[in-house]
Parts: sequence; structure tokens; C-alpha cells
Amino acid sequence: MNNEFTLKLPAITQNEAFARSTVAAFCVELNPSLEQINDIKTAVSEAVTNCIVHAYRGRSDGQIEMRVCLENGGVAILIRDEGCGIADVEQAMQPFYTSMPEQERSGMGFTLMRTFMDDVQVESDPAKGTTVRMRKQIRTED
Ligand code: ATP
Ligand code: MG
Repeated sequence: MNNEFTLKLPAITQNEAFARSTVAAFCVELNPSLEQINDIKTAVSEAVTNCIVHAYRGRSDGQIEMRVCLENGGVAILIRDEGCGIADVEQAMQPFYTSMPEQERSGMGFTLMRTFMDDVQVESDPAKGTTVRMRKQIRTED
């Protein structure tokens, strides 16, 4: 049976650690290695931070939706905001691209997500917001 949860959180910095630890705790039933757990935490942290910093530009009234599903020995994570969206997703996903160089952002968030997860898909619409879907296989057989 698939195990899953959905969570809605205010897009505030205090919730970043909560989001990454919650996903990590939920994945424990798949018996991940410490390295795999850390990979998942890093990817979730980058996606959630992007919602807080970019989507809502520091406004505190935005919401982040997080859906996590354990299926076929892997974890599927969806992180969605209804913020400003991304005009050019391909450009945004390039290593070192950042729209906030003056804030000392390194432009490595999406690159880290892609490095640590098996698959990362980004859908964005400046009128609707951004959805990031990521997947990581933990076990080879189920
Ligand atoms: P870093 O993650 O290294 O601190 P960064 O956030 O700028 O820097 P990425 O996470 O790779 O780098 O994101 C690249 C760019 O994509 C951002 O600068 C921003 O313009 C855009 N972006 C990413 N996520 C969102 C989002 N949820 N909503 C709106 N824009 C986003
Ligand atoms: Mg980022």
C-alpha cells in the first residue's frame, strides 16, 4: 500500500527545518541510508527555501503545499506555491543562475535538487505559481 500525506504550511523561514525533518521522518519506513536521508533533506530544504525567498519574496502570508508519497520503494515529493512563478524555467534551472545575485544567492538550489534526487520536474506559470516534483528511489525491489 502507498503511504502519503499532504501538508500546508505558511511560507516562513521557521518552517523550512520542520518541512525537511518531517519528510525525512516519513521516509524512515523505506529504510534509507543516512546519505539518502540527507539527500532528501537537502532537496526539500532548497525547494521550500525557494518558495519563501522567491515565490512570495519574503511576504509572510503565502502558503506552501507539500505532498509526499511512498511508492514502489521510493519517495515522490511535490512542493507547490502560488507565488510569482518563473518566466523561464530552463534558465532558472541552469547552475549558478540566480535572480538575486545582490542577496548573495549562489543559484545552486535546482542543481542540488537534481544532484540529490533521481528526477526533478518543474512546472511554473507567472499567474499561478510553481510546482516542483521530485522522486528518489530508496530500495531496488519492493
Ligand atoms: P540558491 O538556491 O543557491 O540560494 P537561488 O535560489 O537563486 O540561489 P535556485 O534555487 O537554483 O537558485 O533558483 C534559481 C532561480 O529560479 C531563482 O533565483 C529564482 O529566480 C527562480 N525560482 C526558483 N524557485 C522559485 C519559486 N518557487 N518561485 C519563483 N521563482 C523561483
Ligand atoms: Mg534556491
